Amino acid sequence: MSELTDLGVKAIRDGVAGGSFTAREVAEAFNAAVAEAADLNAFIVTTPDHALAAADAADAKRARGEDLGIMGGVPIGMKDLFATRGVQTTAASHILEGFTPQYESTVSQKLWDAGAGMLGKLNLDQFAMGSSNETSYFGNVSSPWKKNGTNAAMSPGGSSGGSSSAVAARIAPAATGTDTGGSIRQPAAFTGICGIKPTYGRCSRWGVVAFASSLDQAGPMARSVEDCAIMLEAMAGFDPKDATSLKLDVPQWEAGLSADLKGKKIGIPKEYRMDGTDEAILKSWEQGKEWLRDAGAEIVDISLPHTKYALPAYYIVAPAEASSNLARYDGVRYGLRDLPDGAGLQDMYAATRAAGFGDEVKRRILIGTYVLSAGFYDAYYTQAQKIRTLVSQDFEQAFGQCDAILAPTTPTASFPLGSLNEDPLTMYLNDVFAVPASLAGLPAMSVPAMVNDDGLPLGLQIVGKPFDEQGVLNTGLAIQQRAGFDAQPDKWW
Ligand code: GLN
Repeated sequence: MSELTDLGVKAIRDGVAGGSFTAREVAEAFNAAVAEAADLNAFIVTTPDHALAAADAADAKRARGEDLGIMGGVPIGMKDLFATRGVQTTAASHILEGFTPQYESTVSQKLWDAGAGMLGKLNLDQFAMGSSNETSYFGNVSSPWKKNGTNAAMSPGGSSGGSSSAVAARIAPAATGTDTGGSIRQPAAFTGICGIKPTYGRCSRWGVVAFASSLDQAGPMARSVEDCAIMLEAMAGFDPKDATSLKLDVPQWEAGLSADLKGKKIGIPKEYRMDGTDEAILKSWEQGKEWLRDAGAEIVDISLPHTKYALPAYYIVAPAEASSNLARYDGVRYGLRDLPDGAGLQDMYAATRAAGFGDEVKRRILIGTYVLSAGFYDAYYTQAQKIRTLVSQDFEQAFGQCDAILAPTTPTASFPLGSLNEDPLTMYLNDVFAVPASLAGLPAMSVPAMVNDDGLPLGLQIVGKPFDEQGVLNTGLAIQQRAGFDAQPDKWW
């Protein structure tokens, strides 16, 4: 039955509903694949019993002739940033090690209500800060991909690197991700899978460990555009418990899928032709334009003039919000408490935070505290907020001329683990094409385009108008159908 693990969300759901196999067989196959893949380090904890219980519930519903839900019988991986009742939730940090929530995040609850089960909690960059999955307290995640002719462990991207690695390795048909400044799209691009960050506010942030609240969005990661559409439908929806949740009905994205782009205009932003971008990435972008023309779209040149300021602005806004959000981890209420002998309250805060946070998290807290401090607030934070507005206005103007934007997802393919982590600025450059859409709160997706000469996947990014996930998914589908991306990593784990 091992071929069950080759199936995606739609094939599993339809196969279970149609009686081709049982949900229990599916859950058992994936549980076994997860157990075999410890070398990837994609999971922090595995929850095979959760997957089996959900599968048995799906099989029982089928026996009673009831509707199984749009994710009925599909076991998924859950990024360990989502609070899961009774299951350790750490954000890949030491400070939250052992924290077992008494509540379920809205997004994960919606997935369970739609019939999904949980294979386990997926590793990530600590507090979702990183682009390579090397900042987790629980160790690096390896990509299942290797560069041709080398054996070095490659980065699955970050921060949703456990999610991307697991889905690419086919030990999970799909996984949740979160994207603050690219953390769904960049890991998807690095591992040859799809991932969509919806419009800010589509998915509830309630019960998701906060990084930068004005940017954080959940979204699905899977191996096809269709699977992302299905899973996003299950995850999205208004939630009164999240003050920034959008009060909008959830469209039927799966039913609305169409790869016919006749009458659509796709914008090509000239500012995304940046120095340092790989030739192969530029080539895939050219190819992407051809594919979309072939699908009936008209390609138009657009300008997003403030693009070059987006990354520096992001690395002020995101750490500023992080420094405030992470003030709550003080040893009093959550996880770790380091109380040296004879220590007072301040000493406990200091000892707990010194031991509990990793270096990258501390760097963000320091940057964030600095840019919010009285003497520097106007020079940095206020300026960054102004740039954020200008970046949004760039997109508004561009969408007067086009329906969606096509760009690379990342400037390079994946890199070996350990090759960039001494150099935070180069690491931050990974997100240069991803953060503008994040600052503007726009829906954006990465779909696999091709493999480069090293045998590593490259992704293309589609950015849409606010609330137009359908347009983004449809453009992604047109690319998927023409790219015919079917490369798979050789199994070494
Ligand atoms: N890599 C970016 C950062 O480290 C984005 C992270 C994210 O989207 N969570 O901030």
